[in-house]
Amino acid sequence: MPTNEHVKLFIPGPVEVSKKTFHAFCSPMIGHRSGDFKKLYGGIQPRLQTLFGTRQPVFLSTSSAWGVMEGAIRNLVAKKVLNCMCGAFSDKWFDVSKRCGKEAGALQVEWGQPILPAQVDAALAAGGYDAITLIHNETSCGVRNPLKEIAAVVKKYPGVLFIVDTVSSFSTEPIPMDELGIDVLLTGSQKALALPPGLALFSVSERAFERAATLRDRGYYFDFLEFKKNQEQDMTPSTPVISHIYALCSKLDDIFEEGVDVRHARHARLNGIVHEWVTSRGFEFFAPDGYRSLSLTCVKNTRGVDVAEWIKRLREKYRCVIDGGYGKLKGATFRISNMGDENEETITALLAWLDDTLPA
Ligand SMILES: *Cc1c(COP(=O)(O)O)cnc(C)c1O
Repeated sequence: MPTNEHVKLFIPGPVEVSKKTFHAFCSPMIGHRSGDFKKLYGGIQPRLQTLFGTRQPVFLSTSSAWGVMEGAIRNLVAKKVLNCMCGAFSDKWFDVSKRCGKEAGALQVEWGQPILPAQVDAALAAGGYDAITLIHNETSCGVRNPLKEIAAVVKKYPGVLFIVDTVSSFSTEPIPMDELGIDVLLTGSQKALALPPGLALFSVSERAFERAATLRDRGYYFDFLEFKKNQEQDMTPSTPVISHIYALCSKLDDIFEEGVDVRHARHARLNGIVHEWVTSRGFEFFAPDGYRSLSLTCVKNTRGVDVAEWIKRLREKYRCVIDGGYGKLKGATFRISNMGDENEETITALLAWLDDTLPA
């Protein structure tokens, strides 16, 4: 539970979890084969489908996002997968594909650069692929890939199934799965949804189920057909993290009370406030204009600030933290999240605290 010692998170995941969410998380347990559970899961299904922009069922996986990212490879890739890579998470997906024993091709651009539709077109035109992975919002370097344009390219290749990770963009902007022809849309709990880590949400197209049915070695825990079969009775294949589902239900109440469009607009506005601060303080963005994340900002440390010292001061004086750069970008960048429940007041306060603690 948050205490006086609690350090508020402005890192791009896990993000700050509200007291209301924690309260819901701590609801008393119910049996996962009980009517109460079916009511809980069945009850949130319509709102989940609205957020996913799909008529397909939405599944709940007791795992972090990686479970479903790996599962998507095992369920969908029969021949060869094209992994679009522009940062830490998308790079790793290529590695995971190979570890699953699949043939994989790399569409690699420099960290911070977007994946462009023409590059996807050229790679798929070379042939041999039957699936493609894309991370919509590459959290490690703040790149927002042009999902709509890439989706239009993938549609030209009917045998290629489209797997999209929206871990840090889900519910911060419209991502209409059916309309874009996405075959697997997945997200996690601890980023854009501001829940504790440990739950993943995903939906699967009919043609992806058809592909899965032809594949052996789907395993059990992440077998999409098991999820489908169980969801038909508002259940999950194995005992799910029921606490998370209570928290998710509470979060959906929040989202729909605020209004989905209003929520999208809030994220854009808060992101704009951070952007304004970045430019006015003489910093630059790590990603090029037009391809910057709307839910976090990856800032190029062009002023050569001691980022570690900055965060230390921020933590000591204001009991909060931003992120000091992912992996090889540590110190050369820093990241500020505007995901979850942040608002004008909290973001403006953070930026003032950053000004106050900036090392000379
Ligand atoms: C955090 C993140 C992941 C991995 O999530 P886990 O919860 O660690 O499994 C995957 N993709 C993106 C875009 C992320 O930001």
